[in-house]
Amino acid sequence: MNLAYKILNSHLKEGKLVPGEQICIQIDQTLTQDSTGTMAYLQLEAMEVGHVAVDKAVAYIDHNMLQTGFENMDDHEFIRSVAKKHGITFSKPGNGVCHQLQLENFSKPGQTLVGSDSHTPTCGAMGMIAIGAGGLDVAVAMATGKYYLQCPSVIQVNLTGKKAPWVSAKDIILKVLQELSVKGGVNKIVEYTGEGIATLSLTDRATICNMGAELGATTSVFPTDERTLDYLKQQGREADFKEMKAGEDATYDQRLDIDLSTLVPMVAKPHSPDAVVDVKELEGMHINQVVIGSCTNSSFADMMRAAKILKGRKVAEHVSLVIAPGSSSILAMLSENGALADMIHAGARILECGCGPCIGMGQAPLSKGISLRTINRNFKGRSGTNDAGVYLVSPEIAALSAIKGYLSCEFEDDMYLDEVPSTPFIKNTNFFINEYDPQTEVYMGPNIKPVPRGDKLVNEIKGKVVLKVGDNISTDHIVPSDSKLLPYRSNVPHLAKFSFCKVDDQFYNRAIENGGGFIVGGDNYGQGSSREHAALVPNYLKIKAIFALSFARIHRSNLINNGILPLVIDQQGYDFFNDQDEYILLNVKEAVEQGKDVVVKNQTTNETITAKLTLAPREKVMILQGGLLNAIKELGGD
Ligand code: SF4
Repeated sequence: MNLAYKILNSHLKEGKLVPGEQICIQIDQTLTQDSTGTMAYLQLEAMEVGHVAVDKAVAYIDHNMLQTGFENMDDHEFIRSVAKKHGITFSKPGNGVCHQLQLENFSKPGQTLVGSDSHTPTCGAMGMIAIGAGGLDVAVAMATGKYYLQCPSVIQVNLTGKKAPWVSAKDIILKVLQELSVKGGVNKIVEYTGEGIATLSLTDRATICNMGAELGATTSVFPTDERTLDYLKQQGREADFKEMKAGEDATYDQRLDIDLSTLVPMVAKPHSPDAVVDVKELEGMHINQVVIGSCTNSSFADMMRAAKILKGRKVAEHVSLVIAPGSSSILAMLSENGALADMIHAGARILECGCGPCIGMGQAPLSKGISLRTINRNFKGRSGTNDAGVYLVSPEIAALSAIKGYLSCEFEDDMYLDEVPSTPFIKNTNFFINEYDPQTEVYMGPNIKPVPRGDKLVNEIKGKVVLKVGDNISTDHIVPSDSKLLPYRSNVPHLAKFSFCKVDDQFYNRAIENGGGFIVGGDNYGQGSSREHAALVPNYLKIKAIFALSFARIHRSNLINNGILPLVIDQQGYDFFNDQDEYILLNVKEAVEQGKDVVVKNQTTNETITAKLTLAPREKVMILQGGLLNAIKELGGD
């Protein structure tokens, strides 16, 4: 067996390890962050369970820490109180980015982790299966210790050789993205093999696993070795070490070979992480801003390499350099060893340890500005400036370019820090709270609104088409996310007012006037992120069914979790629907129970069509009960 299947097999509860089959695995650890966590914990509360059923559950506050209004603090206090009630470790704002902290403090070889953040695979560097999922799936994992997924196939990425000075782990994953594209990992696990692995530190591997999310991969995984043990020793956790490796005769579904000695510094151009070219091609490009940090590149080694380049030099006058260390431990270490002073003397702004600019919370670039960032995503507008160009680079290229004032890879010899010395981590920063009191009263400030619940399915459903849209509607079209809306992730009624506002500014009013109804979409409906709110908001607005030519995988699951019917139609079916006509679904319950097509009649013309509904047994129960929260007891605590 390959390593990925070895770990899955040791955690398998249901199903067979055959690509495409539905499987259920035992979960050892969970993580949440604040922007998805508030809803996940409202859902956990609704399940009325006691202590979490996993070995370790951690609630991080890292995305939105600006606290510009009470809404943000309400969310943080709510999460802190739920964490205490259910025995979840609470990570206070300022402690750092969830993935960096999980890696440093809790990652364990051979374990499974599910997290309500798409970069949860970072911990694959520790020889774990670490998967990003929707908040409700994470809430279910906390309540039951189980997670359901489609069994992925496995790509082998075989690393040989040794990278040259100035080539970093970021360049390795940018190379993989150049080769496989942002769709290359969908429904796949990326497993790294080969003698090149030994040349990479644990945090190099974490950078590579982190950006496996940009491949669309379920997760990425490395075997464990001396480098893993060394990192665990730095954390004072050597007892957690376990050897994890693929079998001698391991097989894979696909293979990619990369000779590390052939790599050069690379850059991903706007607006996609796979638009990768050699830095040399763009060398000399004028820049306005440089950001070093995020869960991709904020390790102690990343910071030390950047500090070495900055030491005794000066950031170019027209450049704003901002640096966010990944954790409070790293910040304390940089502070004690003098590297922080080197950064500040050079003219760097030091940010709080957290996501910050990566999620558009502050440091929006100049209009039409050029920002070099060590983050993992450069989608249009994510930085907070719609017409800015965000380029993704390594910390070394970022630091050097900040000094030069333009994109550069002309390093000087005294800037090079080959191996960052193995350094014991400072662990007494007091940002983790471990409390358990089942009698804790959960704090519900005015920004916290109840989680929407669906109704039990009936056989006939009447309603109007309140919105008809085209292809590739994304979760961001359905529920936009920006710095003004991020504080309302626990307030679905407020978010609902902005639903589809980029597509049709009357959608919300029509849905309210009609008491819900149906939406008609084209191909790939619900593409983009795993944003669960794109299903919670339609649930709140009483949208009963979505008809589409096809659905994006995660969004389809989120709709079913919310008791909304994802009905597949053909082009004739798409043409059949008119805005504002009344329709009736004639046999829904029967169709779900007996696996039949759903018959849809236009009440004005009396014409009918059929729509397809293909559901796994567990999904049928959820749809019949009006969503996963209502079905949780019937699913036998699943
Ligand atoms: Fe997400 Fe960026 Fe935070 Fe990482 S640093 S968890 S990519 S927002």
